[in-house]
Amino acid sequence: MLPGSARQRTLNKPKDKADKSSTDDNTATSKTAVFFTLFFTSWIFVIVEKCITGNWSILTVPRFPNYINRYIDIKTFVILTGWFGLQCILYMLPVGGESVDGLQIKDSRKRLKYRLNAFFVLTVNIIGFFIALLSGIRVTSVSDKLLQLTTSGVLLIFLFSIVLNLRAGKSGKTGNSFNNWFNGVELNPRWGLFDLKYVCFRSGIIGWILMNFINISKAFDNGDRPSVTLLIVAGFQLLYVADYFWFEDGILVSRDIVHEHLGYNLLVQFLMIPFCFAVQTRYLMMTKYELPWYCLLAVSILNLIGYWIYRGSNSEKNNFRKNPDDPQFANYEVIPTSTGKNLLVSGWWGLCRHPNYLGDLIISMTYALPNGFSCFLPYLNPLFLFVMLVGRERTDGDECRKRYGEAWETYCHRVKYRIIPYVY
Ligand code: NDP
Repeated sequence: MLPGSARQRTLNKPKDKADKSSTDDNTATSKTAVFFTLFFTSWIFVIVEKCITGNWSILTVPRFPNYINRYIDIKTFVILTGWFGLQCILYMLPVGGESVDGLQIKDSRKRLKYRLNAFFVLTVNIIGFFIALLSGIRVTSVSDKLLQLTTSGVLLIFLFSIVLNLRAGKSGKTGNSFNNWFNGVELNPRWGLFDLKYVCFRSGIIGWILMNFINISKAFDNGDRPSVTLLIVAGFQLLYVADYFWFEDGILVSRDIVHEHLGYNLLVQFLMIPFCFAVQTRYLMMTKYELPWYCLLAVSILNLIGYWIYRGSNSEKNNFRKNPDDPQFANYEVIPTSTGKNLLVSGWWGLCRHPNYLGDLIISMTYALPNGFSCFLPYLNPLFLFVMLVGRERTDGDECRKRYGEAWETYCHRVKYRIIPYVY
């Protein structure tokens, strides 16, 4: 049913009925917001409990300590807040990358400025980590305080969500406050040059890499050496993030930055990155699992293939969008659209409608395969990514259909497969 017709019927109802229906709608939205707030928050704690206890089965009920001081530690909160403050300062410093215009903001003629220095900030964090390590600071104590660190992270994003809600209230954009809390009101909340969404996103990814370094150091702490498998998985993930930040201008046009409002939903997804994405290196560190060398070689080749598809397709589209007249595209076949933009039908984008998602999924599988098959937990990330990208592909397809009409239908007719050629 069209949303418009539902709205029309509501408008035609007697006032008391319309009021009741609108209250019911709001209650449903509030319940969903409360449910997902609790679900995502608990989910992080469940994953962290598995990482602490080494009780890896997803079927066993987690056992949480019942002392409050096992969750809350002022020192950990101060360290986390200090580290996040440093990420904010590094983002705003006029060093490490140029300042560029983002996409035009919806309902406004403004283009926001972004400083593209994520690669520089990642490097500073890694150097800082090694300086701390060489100075004798016990960086692995983070590993021992994982539960307190999680609580601190959750408290911080609750705080940000409250501030965002208060800010929305001030600007008069309220409505259903649970919905505002969860889905957010503003697309890109800013205080001067400071962009909360962008810095939280980057910090989540940097936190993931630091967590991997901590897991490697922890292997040394235990009197062992990290396994080759652990080093290789951490290497894959570092390569992925370094690439992501090296081509940072691609992030500015991603759905999260352009279309998603900043509320608890997005903030908790950013917070999940260091805790949930570092599960594989944590698992390898704790179980000391070692994959035979020939399997590692096969997984490394698969990773390179995934990377080749991912990088090749993303760069091809980004370059084409930036400069369609580049001689590189002279022999490419394209479909013209009424907006003036063309759609690529040759190269990667003629293979399937989202070759970049295919590359991403292959890469993600290569993080999980080295963990063997005795535990499902390391496979949760590729599974979530698959579900997320399938949903994203559908949404993006619907938006492209609205934007390009007939031209998009022709493209879908020419390029039949969505993500996996000859399969899906
Ligand atoms: P995409 O980079 O795939 O962009 C989709 C857009 O590309 C469309 O809206 C359309 O925009 C354009 N497009 C589609 N088909 C064509 C074509 N044939 N020719 C030219 N342009 C076309 O979307 P995302 O922002 O979702 O993904 C960006 C990257 O981020 C991907 O590599 C993805 O895998 C990755 N990612 C990773 C995640 C993770 O957790 N690891 C999570 C989410 C994303 P227009 O025409 O307006 O240019």
